[in-house]
Amino acid sequence: MELGQSSYPRRKTRQIMVGDVPVGGDAPITVQSMTITKTADVDGTLQQIYDLAMAGCDIVRCTCNEIEAAEGLARIVPRSPVPIVADIHHNHRMALAALEAGVHCLRLNPGNIRKPEHIKLVAQVAKDRGVPIRIGVNGGSLHPDLYKRHGGKVTPEAMVESAQMELAYFDEVGFEDVKISVKASSVPLMIEAYRQLSDAVDHPLHLGVTEAGPMPGGLIKATAGIATLLAEGIGDTIRYSLTADPVEEARAGRALLEAMGLRERKNVDLIACPSCGRAEIDVIEVARQAQEAFGEREIPLQVAVMGCVVNGPGEARDADLGIAAGNKKGHLFVRGQNVAVVPEDQMVDALVEWATFINDHGLDAAFERARSTREQARREAERDRAALAGAHGDDVNRSEQRVELIRKMG
Ligand code: SF4
Repeated sequence: MELGQSSYPRRKTRQIMVGDVPVGGDAPITVQSMTITKTADVDGTLQQIYDLAMAGCDIVRCTCNEIEAAEGLARIVPRSPVPIVADIHHNHRMALAALEAGVHCLRLNPGNIRKPEHIKLVAQVAKDRGVPIRIGVNGGSLHPDLYKRHGGKVTPEAMVESAQMELAYFDEVGFEDVKISVKASSVPLMIEAYRQLSDAVDHPLHLGVTEAGPMPGGLIKATAGIATLLAEGIGDTIRYSLTADPVEEARAGRALLEAMGLRERKNVDLIACPSCGRAEIDVIEVARQAQEAFGEREIPLQVAVMGCVVNGPGEARDADLGIAAGNKKGHLFVRGQNVAVVPEDQMVDALVEWATFINDHGLDAAFERARSTREQARREAERDRAALAGAHGDDVNRSEQRVELIRKMG
């Protein structure tokens, strides 16, 4: 297995098209997010959609809760860089208005639009227009009848039944262009609901932990739920529901898929040591500066920031590029080989410059570039490594002294 490649066999689902983005089948797993602007604010919403697309979002959802929002969608759709999904909750007329606005997909919550004739009418119009629908079951807004029937509790079975009831209405009008989500704020509940749903249907599944909350807890909950399912081969599109700037949702979704080897790397994968008593720099601050400097630059390399030259280059030898601090210097290394030494205050600039060079010209060109500097860089790294190892002592825990003391206690 190649480093960074996925080894999770994916469950087979049928494929639908959301605008020009395929979802399901063998299509890449996509990242979704949702705008938090008023949809009637066309320019503000478009700005957020562009920011989301830049951050790696493939599909964006906007609320369509009032007629002004539907009017906004009519103006947003033709200017959006990614397909637009209209989020519909209580009023089926908003779904019809959103279809009229030209959206690429609808999201219906079966717990909120309950009249069969309304559901079937929306499905019929969506079918006529060739627009798919996501059945978005939400544990918090389950149909009251289902809630009662399942013992007054939100259960995985109740959530799956909700999706199947909606599917049955769609079947009546011959509408099959469907993806489904069964989100809950409880991670174990959503995991089990998706497992059962995946066994029951072959529609593409949209994964998410709803109302996951602010970071870092929300990020951890969403990752726990989504990653568990992806590792089981379940899921065709994902959304992090964070109480945060939606751009963070898109970044998180993209980062998860890249980390699991399910999408190709788009931006820098910044790794950094956690720091320890050996650190020669403020690793947290330098890593933050590096993250900011790389921003959304499309440089698909793994770049390491390491706190000391004693262990840094070795621990990050698989990174494409890295820098380790030592004796007020930054020791640059490419795939574990020292290539240059820069002053400590130029570490971040050097990382960005070398990463850009490698991205433009390749690793071989980087080694060629380092031909005149690498021998000196290696010697300086050796010297600083030896000096620092001596300064801190090879044995940072002073084990022998401790052992002596413990023996005396015996
Ligand atoms: S690279 Fe150095 S500073 Fe960072 S955790 Fe490892 S030993 Fe500590």
